Amino acid sequence: MAKEFDVVIVGGGILGTSISYFLSALNKSKKIAVIEQAQSVAFHTSGRNTGKVHAPYLYNPEKKKLFAKAAFHGYGMWEEYSKLRKLPFKKDGVIEVALDQKGIGVLEKYLKWGKQNGLNDSDIELMDKKQLKEIEPEIECEAALYVYRDGSADYSEFTGSLMKDSQQNSTDFLLDTKVTEIKKENDKWKITLNDEKEVFTNFLINAAGGQAIDIAHEVGVAENYTDVHFRGEYWIAPKEYSNLTNTSVYSVPEFPDYPFLDPHWIIRVDGSCEIGPNAVPVFSPYGYDKSENFKEFIPKMLEMLGSGARKAIFDKQFQELAMNEIQSSMSKSAMVERVRRFLPKIDADKITEKGTAGIRSSVIDENGKFVPDVILTNNDNSFHILNYNSPGATGALPFAAHIVNQLNETGLFQSESTDEQCGPWKFNEIIEKIEG
Ligand SMILES: Cc1cc2nc3c(=O)[nH]c(=O)nc-3n(C[C@H](O)[C@H](O)[C@H](O)COP(=O)(O)OP(=O)(O)OC[C@H]3O[C@@H](n4cnc5c(N)ncnc54)[C@H](O)[C@@H]3O)c2cc1C
Repeated sequence: MAKEFDVVIVGGGILGTSISYFLSALNKSKKIAVIEQAQSVAFHTSGRNTGKVHAPYLYNPEKKKLFAKAAFHGYGMWEEYSKLRKLPFKKDGVIEVALDQKGIGVLEKYLKWGKQNGLNDSDIELMDKKQLKEIEPEIECEAALYVYRDGSADYSEFTGSLMKDSQQNSTDFLLDTKVTEIKKENDKWKITLNDEKEVFTNFLINAAGGQAIDIAHEVGVAENYTDVHFRGEYWIAPKEYSNLTNTSVYSVPEFPDYPFLDPHWIIRVDGSCEIGPNAVPVFSPYGYDKSENFKEFIPKMLEMLGSGARKAIFDKQFQELAMNEIQSSMSKSAMVERVRRFLPKIDADKITEKGTAGIRSSVIDENGKFVPDVILTNNDNSFHILNYNSPGATGALPFAAHIVNQLNETGLFQSESTDEQCGPWKFNEIIEKIEG
């Protein structure tokens, strides 16, 4: 007999696992499953990122409202969760530097956005170059935004821990299990796993990250959107650079209209330092190496040429950006040079080890424009989270709570109770905070 579930969540990244965390706490008698094709949760983007718990100063409160709100609340929630589960979380701040006059204008805008998104005077401060030199003598810049309310974490550990919490509430995690087909049968979703087994569910949640668009298309949703994938690569810095700065350093991005930043100087939660990520266009959400990209090249090109992505790839500015990123993938010194602009002490010859690359998938609309915010959409008995990008890991807990609440309020999936304790929080209290 094929197994039956009340809810199936496709994708055991940080988002799908966070959704299962809240859903399973509110629905003790419902059968919930998370289906993940990799051997562990957070195997892909959620475990391959910069590990920053971002303050929401980079996000236009009008265009990235949901992300900004989730990031603001995510910081406090991860801090509390890390205390509860004794997981690493460092309040180590971040510095955003401007390298010219135009960049200073951008920092002023970021300061304004940060405040509009909930930060206060003690969370964020604009400094001139002399002020910054006193704290960080190795950094060269014209001005800087010092963001105190920013942190570092290990999102693989967070996701693994949320999985254990969900399992305590009887959620099934089907790992090493790929969803290969989804069909409607007698008012239920029939989901084929690894091309062989079948399970049925009353309600489907698509949190499949880089494959979320494909799954949405499979059930006839969001057909006017497509996506493009960008691989973010890192280089590991040697130990002798551990004390070069006290804090991670980002620079004002050269192309702020695109959904990624220039490579940063990163201090991870364990104190190790890295340079990255760049954003190299690739042909698959798992295009870490040549063979996967080669395999996906023709189908992805055909898909892009037949959709809005065609306009994006023939756009001159996009082509310039892509060439820049490809160059910094092919040449280590080209990548390091982008960070040497504000940390000139770094010597590319001393950097020899690659870090773990992660891939982001950005959604493009039918006019060839990158969609700035997350897209939440549904059809009968399915709910889809598309374009869930940076700072998606930071905002995963509040965002997941928001989704579970939205499903409940719209009647798409009614929870048994909303008055439950979910780890350190009461669900209702989280909702009051984030929806208020
Ligand atoms: C280079 C880089 C750096 C970043 N840095 C930060 C940062 O510092 N801070 C921050 O907050 N955010 C950061 N982000 C963003 C953040 O990592 C993502 O927003 C977040 O991880 C997205 O989580 P997710 O669960 O939606 O996706 P994913 O982690 O991609 O999870 C989706 C899962 O679905 C599974 N799946 C897909 N299709 C199927 C299928 N058919 N069957 C079964 N399983 C399937 C996949 O295997 C995958 O594990 C960064 C992203 C990148 C790329």
